Amino acid sequence: MCRRLTQSWHDVAQHLSSPHQSSGKQDGVLKRVEAQLNRIAPQLLQIRRHIHQRPELSGQEFATTAYLTKRLAAARIPHRVGPGKRGVISEIVTSSAAGAPVVAVRADIDALPIQEENKVRYSSKESGVMHACGHDAHTAILLGMTLALYRARPLPFGWRSIFQPSEETGRGAREMVAHGALEGVDAVIALHVDPTLPVGQAGVTAGPRSAFCQDFTIAVRGRGGHGARPHTTVDPIATAANLITLLYQVIPRQTDARDPIVVTIGVINGGHAANVIPDIVSLEGTIRSMSSSVAIRARETVERLCAGVAQSFGATVSPTFESLLPGMVNDSRIAALFASVARRLLGPDNVVTGQPPSMGSEDFADYLPVVPGCMLTLGVKAAGREVTPLHTSTFDIDEKALLIGARLLATTLLEWPKDSA
Ligand SMILES: [Zn+2]
Ligand SMILES: [Zn+2]
Repeated sequence: MCRRLTQSWHDVAQHLSSPHQSSGKQDGVLKRVEAQLNRIAPQLLQIRRHIHQRPELSGQEFATTAYLTKRLAAARIPHRVGPGKRGVISEIVTSSAAGAPVVAVRADIDALPIQEENKVRYSSKESGVMHACGHDAHTAILLGMTLALYRARPLPFGWRSIFQPSEETGRGAREMVAHGALEGVDAVIALHVDPTLPVGQAGVTAGPRSAFCQDFTIAVRGRGGHGARPHTTVDPIATAANLITLLYQVIPRQTDARDPIVVTIGVINGGHAANVIPDIVSLEGTIRSMSSSVAIRARETVERLCAGVAQSFGATVSPTFESLLPGMVNDSRIAALFASVARRLLGPDNVVTGQPPSMGSEDFADYLPVVPGCMLTLGVKAAGREVTPLHTSTFDIDEKALLIGARLLATTLLEWPKDSA
């Protein structure tokens, strides 16, 4: 696996450090791609706004999938729909060039359970659902790039576009990989909008970029009864309260301070009335760390604390863990290529490197054990506008970033080293 990639990067450092030189043939391709990107530019806004107005939650991306398949079919671009009619994988558009690489480009298509508060013409039409993580922009950029590149054929590289569902629940990337999205592919790239960077800037950093994510649920079962007579009950609320305190205290205290870790309980459910002790309380939480060994140790600590609290209170405390989502690690060679392309397109001062990793998770990580890859961050902050973080009800982007994103991805593919390099 990835033999072609490994062999083809021998001269990449030299290639990237020298001023960009292109042959007449390359110039022709570059001009064709640029012309098609400029032609698609006005549509990028329409595509993004269409998707923004019709957000769909993870696992329910049926209309978005149908919209994408319609657009791809109209352009006669071969593709298949993902499992459960969610997500789209274009067939590899091959290149006849000798040693041509095959690169997958991925965008996520799902939205979040947030009520949009932006008062704009393209606000979400779905109550309580919003594209608050910029996946509408990712989808528009990839669809626009796909349409433009297909029209600009023949190209010196092969590529496939992956429109992936269920990023926010951490399941979609695995579904796409299981559905063959990386078969015949040498590497995978993606971008994510970044509202802390002004539009016209980009960030690319090699190495660890996002945390390992261990989601879990805990069922606390007691024995309900009258609130005035707790001695006749096994109180699951008191048990759960004690457990949360212990989780927050013990996990950081039993993890080496040099290893970052976060544990958060985000959901607690139980009880109906002030004077009734319920039978059951359920908790949902997440553990974030920068290595699998720290995540596994924390998981063992959760299990131990659950057992200890259960014994102390006489309750049954049962933790259930989702599969561990790996941290995202950007390939250093692809990061160097991305940075070189971004510096040339945006100017050397507009490319940020060496950013600290995030304790957030990103399921793009699930592609990277299969093929090397890299995610670029794309500045979307509008000049003079207050920064509104991802996952907030007033998040929005400067739409100038759409064409910039499509150009960055397309140019990176054009610059990809060949076997013969
Ligand atoms: Zn998100
Ligand atoms: Zn996201």
